[in-house]
Amino acid sequence: MVDRFVATTDAGDDFWQRISDSVQTAFNEGAGHCLVEATHDDATDLNKSFSLLFEADGIRFEEPSVHLFSFNNPYGACKNCEGFGSVIGIDEDLVIPDKSLSVYEGAVACWRGEKMGEWLTELLQNAYKFNFPIHRPYFELNEYDRQLLWSGNKYFGGINRFFKYVEEQTYKIQYRVMLSRYRGKTKCPECQGTRLRGDANYVKIINKSITDVVLMQVKDSYGFFKTVELNAYDKKSCRPFA
Ligand SMILES: [Zn+2]
Repeated sequence: MVDRFVATTDAGDDFWQRISDSVQTAFNEGAGHCLVEATHDDATDLNKSFSLLFEADGIRFEEPSVHLFSFNNPYGACKNCEGFGSVIGIDEDLVIPDKSLSVYEGAVACWRGEKMGEWLTELLQNAYKFNFPIHRPYFELNEYDRQLLWSGNKYFGGINRFFKYVEEQTYKIQYRVMLSRYRGKTKCPECQGTRLRGDANYVKIINKSITDVVLMQVKDSYGFFKTVELNAYDKKSCRPFA
């Protein structure tokens, strides 16, 4: 037993500081686990178990170190692309070679032709149900619609599912040929080309992860660093490593 207290809604800072200290102690003593037992006057007892490791989500957090934020270090490098920032995959530039075309005009190269055209027809016939602009040039599509074209929804398959289908058929030579036509070096989907391992992004300073800052336009990141004001906690987190 680390602590016992009466829960109240109008407690001051001292109270919360005490609870915070007690939880910290419980996690330390319990090797990452804390059990809270609540007793109500008029209700049944309530037991709740907490884990410092968030294992219920399958994520195990490690104490951040300077290597976590460096893609030049095997520890900090993205596990999917090993820190290269790109992987061999379906290349957007090969799938959509002419971005001035609309979906209707055949922007999606792999959906041209009679057989594969069924995937396009499925989208064209259902587009009105989710307001997809089939006559808008690909380069003018907003991020949402562009994502949608790749990911699909319940009304149409989308480019990603199309290539998954093709990959499942590669025991046939014509599908292998087709797949090779669209494969190339692409931005790593895991780290979005930033080369860093994904869980480095759980560390945030003023609601921004290192990836958020790396992906900013230079003028925006300049503005971010110029105006950034750290509270006492963040200042401590950001101190240079000795
Ligand atoms: Zn990556």
